Amino acid sequence: MKITALTPFILHVPVSKSLIGDSTHTITHWGMPGVIIETDTGLKGYGYTGTHANLASDRLIVSIITDVFGPMLIGEDPREVRHLHHKLSKSSTNIWIGRGGLLQMAISAIDIALWDVKAKDAEQPLWMLMGGGASSKVAAYNTDCGWLVRTEDELVDDCKAMIFDNGFSAIKMKIGKPDPKEDFHRIAAVRKAIGDAPKLMVDVNGKWDIATAKQYAPRLADYDITWLEEPLWHEDVAGHKDLAQRIDTPIALGELLYDFDAFKEFVLAGAVDFLQPDATRCGGLTAVWQIADLGHAFHLPVTPHHGDMMQAQLHLVMAHPACSLLEYIPWTLGCFVDPVVVEDGYYHLPTAPGAGTTFTPETLERFNVK
Ligand SMILES: [Mg+2]
Repeated sequence: MKITALTPFILHVPVSKSLIGDSTHTITHWGMPGVIIETDTGLKGYGYTGTHANLASDRLIVSIITDVFGPMLIGEDPREVRHLHHKLSKSSTNIWIGRGGLLQMAISAIDIALWDVKAKDAEQPLWMLMGGGASSKVAAYNTDCGWLVRTEDELVDDCKAMIFDNGFSAIKMKIGKPDPKEDFHRIAAVRKAIGDAPKLMVDVNGKWDIATAKQYAPRLADYDITWLEEPLWHEDVAGHKDLAQRIDTPIALGELLYDFDAFKEFVLAGAVDFLQPDATRCGGLTAVWQIADLGHAFHLPVTPHHGDMMQAQLHLVMAHPACSLLEYIPWTLGCFVDPVVVEDGYYHLPTAPGAGTTFTPETLERFNVK
C-alpha cells in the first residue's frame, strides 16, 4: 500500500453552547485542521488536530502537513505508522523549527490519519489492533457542564443535570476567577448540589501563580476533589513539584505539553499524579502510547485530554493498561460517521474498522473553511 495524496481540510464547528470559556480562553467554535491520507488501494485515513478555530494559524498547520511533511510521506506505506512517526519527528526540519506547537500538531494529525488507515486495512477497530479487549470499561467524565463563563446558578444546574439526568458519575468544573474566593463559593455550591458520591475535578487552565496556589489549593481538601488540573504555568516543573509537596489533592496536567521529554520531567520530579496527554498536540496516538507507557512504569493513571473529541483516543484508552477514564465534551458528535457514544457514564464499544475519525461528507462540506 502506498500514500498517493494528502488532502487538507479546516473544520470550524460551533460549540454546543453559544459561548464557552475558562480562565484563559472563550471560544465559539472548535477548530479541526487536518488531513485525509489517500492511498493506492482507495482506503482513506482521517486525522486532525484541535484548535480554537483561528483561521490564520489553522492554515499554517495544514500547510505544514501538505507542504513540509507531504513530500516525506508520498509513496510510503501508511501502515508503517511508528516508522513514519519517527521519520517526521526526527527530521531535521522538525528538530530545527519544530518539536512543539504547529509542527507537532501537524505530526499529530498525520499520525492519527495513519492509524486510521492501518486499522481500516486490518478491518478492525483500532482498539483491537492495539491489543485491547472488548470487555474494557472506559468511564467518561463530563467537562461540558463546568464552564467559568456560566453564572453560579447556571453552573450548578448544568452539573446537576449531568449527574442526575445524564448518568455521569464524574464531572469537571473550571476555576481561576480573578478572586479565588469566588471559585470556592462555586465549588462549595456544586459539591452541595451533586452530593458526596460523584467525582469532582477542578481545572485552573494554568491561571494561578505559585503564591495564589499555595494560599488556596490546600482548601480543596474540604471538597474531596479528585484532581487539581493545570494550577500553574504549563511547563513549570519546579512550581508544580513545590505545590505537590504541600497539598493532599492530586495534580493533573499535560494537555499543553508537546512531547515525551516534557512528561518525563514532571514524572521524575514527582510534580504530577494524573498524566493528560492530548493526541492532537503531543505527536498523535503513537506519542500518547509512549507517554502512557511512561505513566504505567510509575503507576500513574493516564487520562487523555479531549482534543480529538475522544474519537481516536477512546481506542487507545481501551487498549492501554494505564488508562480507564476519558474526558467527554460532546461538541462534534454529529460530524463523524461513527461518533463515540456515552451511556450511564461509560463509553460504548466502537465496532467500525478504523480510528473513529472519518467525517461525514456533509461535515466536510458544511464546516470546511479552508
Ligand atoms: Mg484542562
